[in-house]
Amino acid sequence: MPYIREIITDGHPTLRKVAKKVNLEELHDPLFQQLIDDMFETMYHAPGIGLAAPQVNISKRLFVVDLDDDVPGHGPLVVVNPKFSVTEGEIDSIEGCLSVPGMIGDLKRFERVVCTGFDRNGKKVELEGTGLFGRCLQHEMDHLDGVLYIDKARNIRPAVTEEEKAALAEVEAEGAALERNASEAVEPSAVPAIA
Ligand SMILES: [Zn+2]
Repeated sequence: MPYIREIITDGHPTLRKVAKKVNLEELHDPLFQQLIDDMFETMYHAPGIGLAAPQVNISKRLFVVDLDDDVPGHGPLVVVNPKFSVTEGEIDSIEGCLSVPGMIGDLKRFERVVCTGFDRNGKKVELEGTGLFGRCLQHEMDHLDGVLYIDKARNIRPAVTEEEKAALAEVEAEGAALERNASEAVEPSAVPAIA
């Protein structure tokens, strides 16, 4: 039975460690499989669209992602020992983080990444990420290196407007997409110019 683990928040030292590579032999350990199940359960409960092991106080290189509601075919996924083989372009992102509750901020991300790693059975995986999925992969990867989005973001603020709250409620808010909400809910003239 999967159970919900505590999500640690900014200030906890585990969030600032470079997580250890997973020995693929560990994948045979029922406790490791339990960890993966628990990470999904914890992510869905939050709710979120991505969760990295350090966020449940396990300093190992894996994360789970599930964007299936937003981007069909993109979840549920687990990536063990992820690496980016391609990073290109640049896009604006508005993100929040389950480990920094209630806040959002603006930052730059790569427009497209290709992420390689292993699934829960040790099989090689290669994932191409653009848009929300690509940003989510980058957000989760940062967690494995002890980096939080607030280290990179400008204009970190509480989610106060209706659009911001909607975005937070929707993905609470790992690699969050505000762009859709923004484009739907805000007059073009009200969107701040991005220089
Ligand atoms: Zn996060």
